[in-house]
Amino acid sequence: MQICNKCNQISPDSEPNCISCGANLSEYSEFAISRKKLIENSRVTAIRISVSKSACPTCRQIEGVYTKQNLPTLPVEGCSNPNGCKCHYAPILDEIFP
Ligand SMILES: [Zn+2]
Ligand SMILES: [Zn+2]
Repeated sequence: MQICNKCNQISPDSEPNCISCGANLSEYSEFAISRKKLIENSRVTAIRISVSKSACPTCRQIEGVYTKQNLPTLPVEGCSNPNGCKCHYAPILDEIFP
């Protein structure tokens, strides 16, 4: 499911635009917003796509660590979870250890 950042309504993964306010979900979904924030954050060196334990095989295949340049977009295309894609982005930070 995609959550619209403009009106907080939920649209199915297959919808390109919010079914409530018509916002472009490739730009205004929670997925798109968090993706953009992570890419813009200079402390983030890489991004992991985490999948839930109940994720479908398509999502399991996409799980892993990506650079900002090759980070796939969420929801996962072809996700077969009936409740919608549950993947999320997790930042990998450039920590400096003493
Ligand atoms: Zn909306
Ligand atoms: Zn899936």
